[in-house]
Amino acid sequence: MKSDFFKSLTFRSWLYFSSFAVALIATIWVLQLLMMDPYYRSAKEESIQNVADQVKSALQEESPYLDYALNDIAVNNGVCFSIYQLSSTSYKEVISLKDGIGSPCYLNLPSSIFQPLTLATRMAESNETVLTDYVNNLNYPGEMILYTEKLDFHLSNYYLIVNSYVEPVDYAYDIIRSQLILTTLIALSLAALLAYLVSRRMSQPIVRMTESARRLGEGDYAVMFSGSNNFYTELDELADTLNYATGELSRMDELRRDLVANVSHDIKTPLTMIRAYAEMVRDLTGQDPEKREQHLEVIITEANHLDRLVTDMLELSRLQAAALQLNKKVFPFHQPIREIMSVLEGAFLRQDVMHKEEFCEDVSVYGDPVKIAQVVYNFIDNAIKHSQPKTLVTIKTTRRRGGVIRLEVIDNGSGIAAKDLPYIWDRYYRTDKKYQRAAEGSGLGLAIAKGILQAHQAKFGVNSSVGEGSTFWFEMKIASAEDKEK
Ligand code: ADP
Repeated sequence: MKSDFFKSLTFRSWLYFSSFAVALIATIWVLQLLMMDPYYRSAKEESIQNVADQVKSALQEESPYLDYALNDIAVNNGVCFSIYQLSSTSYKEVISLKDGIGSPCYLNLPSSIFQPLTLATRMAESNETVLTDYVNNLNYPGEMILYTEKLDFHLSNYYLIVNSYVEPVDYAYDIIRSQLILTTLIALSLAALLAYLVSRRMSQPIVRMTESARRLGEGDYAVMFSGSNNFYTELDELADTLNYATGELSRMDELRRDLVANVSHDIKTPLTMIRAYAEMVRDLTGQDPEKREQHLEVIITEANHLDRLVTDMLELSRLQAAALQLNKKVFPFHQPIREIMSVLEGAFLRQDVMHKEEFCEDVSVYGDPVKIAQVVYNFIDNAIKHSQPKTLVTIKTTRRRGGVIRLEVIDNGSGIAAKDLPYIWDRYYRTDKKYQRAAEGSGLGLAIAKGILQAHQAKFGVNSSVGEGSTFWFEMKIASAEDKEK
């Protein structure tokens, strides 16, 4: 696989984080720069109006210290102002200039430039009581604000004209710009660092898991997938799932190996016997009817065993392909059990195992009696095979709540270790790994039983402890009126 750095999780998430930071900061820049000027101007207009209000209230107080008070207002607010009596033809300075800004004050300019009369005319024309202008003073490089308000006392045309700088906007611009540059740098470095850390946290487990998956692909089932150590739930869950899958794969692999070993052994043993006995009949015992009968009997038994093995294998593969044809009908639950008990009577005798039947009142169930008989056969046959002579196998049926009847096959045999319990229903799983010809079986019985019971949607299970014995059980629904009509 080609590893392309520019498509890596690390690079991509770094890129996204950083782009996000850049976009965010760019937005702040644009908003600040675009909005600051109008915002500052309106703030300035408001503050100059405020100065005008202060002047008006000082005038109304008629205090003997009016002159001081007006001076204070000019100095404290960084403005200069005068009050004029204006008409369309003349003007008179009523309260002389109060100056808090010095030479840049627009009101100081020669009357060729600062023309109070124009203001009077404009106000008369526009019918406004307030005028706000932005002007430039040659004595001063920045823009200035010129505020004119008509004062409504003494019935004469009195005007208050206030002047101040707008320039602090530029000053504020500078401060904000340098702050923004600093913020941008810090935010970008933080974004880059954060992106690096986050993406590393995310990509490292993935890289590790990819490596583990590669090893798994090469057949190393001991491999462990480690997630993000509780950092990302999804990655931890992925690691758990992969570990589970690895466990299952490894088990399947072991089963497959067992299968090859078992099947080849299962098939080879009877084949060897068949060949040996057939040769014996041909070469030695052909003329001796008694010996020949014996030897032919062995050949038939072994051929039967082979037949059963192959039938089981076929049946199981059909079950697994879900191609099992169920021939369902209503039948008395005890019927297949009794049939199997009579079939296995000889086996009980041979193994010297005792049996007891504890049946409840019989009920009808709906299913395939032949397949159910196969399950019963497998449970009881296993119980016999795993019991010691003179021990008891109990076949018990009980009615249970929820309209169910249950069969239990209870033995006092070898029992099954807890570690094996979950697997005995798998194909070819044998608790005893060594092949034992004595315990004849294909290792497929319980897998087939499971398939049949699942096809009947029947509950089933086993309770077992080593040395004490096992109880294999399954439950079937009692047939309903509709089942009986089918
Ligand atoms: P087998 O043909 O080997 O009996 P099964 O599928 O019927 O195969 O059973 C699988 C395994 O489960 C057996 O090999 C045995 O180890 C275990 N087992 C099944 N039934 C019993 C039982 N009644 N007591 C102890 N072990 C059992």
